[in-house]
Amino acid sequence: MSRPHVIVLGAGVSGLTTAIAMSLAECRVAIYAAEGPAQTTSALAAAIWHPFYQAPDFVYLARARQTYATMHRLSSDTSSGVVMKALTEYFRHDAGMPWWAECASGLKRLPQAEVPSRFACAYRMDVPVADAATYLGYLMNMFLELGGQYEQRRVEDPMTLLEHADFVVNCCGYGSRQFGDDDLSLSRAVVLRATRDDAVRGCFIDDSDPAMPTYVVERDDDIVLGGTADPDLTSTVIGERQIEDIIRRCTHLCAGVAALRVIDTRIGFRPMRRAPRVARDDSHSRLLHNYGHGGGGFTLSWGCANDVVRLMGKTSTDAS
Ligand SMILES: Cc1cc2nc3c(=O)[nH]c(=O)nc-3n(C[C@H](O)[C@H](O)[C@H](O)COP(=O)(O)OP(=O)(O)OC[C@H]3O[C@@H](n4cnc5c(N)ncnc54)[C@H](O)[C@@H]3O)c2cc1C
Repeated sequence: MSRPHVIVLGAGVSGLTTAIAMSLAECRVAIYAAEGPAQTTSALAAAIWHPFYQAPDFVYLARARQTYATMHRLSSDTSSGVVMKALTEYFRHDAGMPWWAECASGLKRLPQAEVPSRFACAYRMDVPVADAATYLGYLMNMFLELGGQYEQRRVEDPMTLLEHADFVVNCCGYGSRQFGDDDLSLSRAVVLRATRDDAVRGCFIDDSDPAMPTYVVERDDDIVLGGTADPDLTSTVIGERQIEDIIRRCTHLCAGVAALRVIDTRIGFRPMRRAPRVARDDSHSRLLHNYGHGGGGFTLSWGCANDVVRLMGKTSTDAS
C-alpha cells in the first residue's frame, strides 16, 4: 500500500511535532506555513513543561505525560535545546499533591520551613524546559531528515488542499479563527527576558491565580520572567507599571530576581479554547485539527501529535 500523503498547516510547536509524528508513522508529509518557526507564537514561549491554569482532566493528563516522556528523552541530546530543570511550584492553598504529579519525576513536598509565609505549601520536581528557538529549529531539522518537505505559504481554505492530499492537518494556532472557529480567542502574554545570573537557579511558578500566572524560568541563555493573562487584549504596548508588577511578583518566588538585568520585553498571544481541538472536522473526515492549546502548547505537544496520528488510523512511534 502506498504511503498516505499528508499536508500539515503551521510550523509552530503543534505543526512540527504533528509533522514528525506523521512522518514516523510512514506518511509522506509536507508542511505549509504562513510563517517559519522563528516567527510563530511558539518561538516566544517560556517553553516550560507545566499544566498552566488547567483544571484536572484525564485527556490533558495523558497528553502531558506523553510530552513529558518524549521531551525528557530529547533532553539527552544537547543540540535539542531541551534541558531538565528543577521547578519549585508554590501554592496559596494546600490541596495536597498536584493532580498531574504522576507525570513529573522526582516530585517532593518542600519542608514548611522552606516555604515563604505568603504560600501554603510548595512542591519541587524536575521538568523539561526548552529554549524555544533552538528546539523549534531542532524539530524542523528532524522533520526534514525524515524526508519531510517545507513550504512557506499562507492557505486561505484548508478544504481546497484535500484534492492534493489524503489528509490535511490544521495546526494554525490562533490562525484557525479565520477558518471559522468562533470558540477561539486570544489571551495576551507579557514576558521579560533577563540575562543569566547565579542569583537565580532553577525555575519557580505560582499558578494560583489564572489571571496572573507568575513564573521564573531559567534557561541556558537567559531567564524568562512572566507573566500576564490578558483576555482579548491585542495591544502590543506595555506600561512600566506592568513590567514592575511582573518583577515584583517574580521576586516573591525567588529573591534573586531583584538582581537580574532585564534585556527584552516580549508579547505573545495564546490561542485559547475551552479545550484544544484535536479532532476530525465535522464535515470533512480527511481534514483534522490540532490547535487551541492556550498556555500549554509545549506541555501538550507530543501527546496531541500522537492523538492526530491515531485519528488517521495509524500507530504512533516515539520521536526520541
Ligand atoms: C509568552 C508566552 C509564553 C508561553 N509559555 C508557555 C510555556 O512555558 N509552556 C507551554 O506549554 N506553553 C506556553 N505558551 C503557549 C504556547 O506558546 C502556545 O500554546 C503554542 O505556541 C501554540 O503553538 P501552535 O503551534 O499551535 O501555534 P503557533 O505557534 O501560533 O503556530 C501557528 C502556525 O500556523 C501558521 N499559520 C497560521 N495561519 C495560517 C494560514 N492561514 N496558512 C498557513 N499557515 C498558517 C503560522 O504561520 C504558524 O507557523 C506560551 C505562550 C506565550 C505567548
